Amino acid sequence: MNSFASSLIDVFIGLGSNLAMPTSQILSARDAIIAHNDISECAFSSLYHSSPMGPQDQPDYVNAVLCAQTHLTALQLLQFLQDIEHAQGRIRKEQRWGARTLDLDILLYGNETIDLPELIVPHLGITERAFVLYPLNEIAPNINIPSKGHIAELIKRCPLAGLKKLSTHASS
Ligand code: ATP
Ligand code: MG
Ligand code: MG
Repeated sequence: MNSFASSLIDVFIGLGSNLAMPTSQILSARDAIIAHNDISECAFSSLYHSSPMGPQDQPDYVNAVLCAQTHLTALQLLQFLQDIEHAQGRIRKEQRWGARTLDLDILLYGNETIDLPELIVPHLGITERAFVLYPLNEIAPNINIPSKGHIAELIKRCPLAGLKKLSTHASS
């Protein structure tokens, strides 16, 4: 991976929340992300409602996917997203996939494949998660996911699993 990104990179970010007014959490996070002076939004998906992964004794989630362009390196972007999670009250607990005010994952960073202890891109869950693939397909129906395949093929193998679109266009 380049440690210095001099060119403009297309990135896709997955947003999720199931605590403290999830829809507001997602829209606030979108605003916080695009407030960065080196991040320009290209597209923002509809909001989706999904059942929790892992522990089932938690509320349902609201999810969306944001496409943006940036010169930030992938690690700079990860740090920025983690700062926003923290600012919006994300508390990291022992339990994997537990309830959270905000989860911001880097789904794709250009065409790069990144395998670092703190960052794996494409995101590891990208091919199995309806709440990632369907909003991603809505805003990037022609995308090829490095070493995974074309989104149209991936979607065919990914059942909706109760995923529901909440709104066709989220206001900022
Ligand atoms: P999952 O990654 O399966 O969706 P999660 O989002 O609940 O689970 P977190 O607790 O948000 O997991 O993050 C755990 C760690 O994952 C972070 O500290 C981060 O370093 C690492 N990580 C690895 N790859 C990524 C990525 N593509 N985007 C965001 N975080 C990542
Ligand atoms: Mg996640
Ligand atoms: Mg995460």
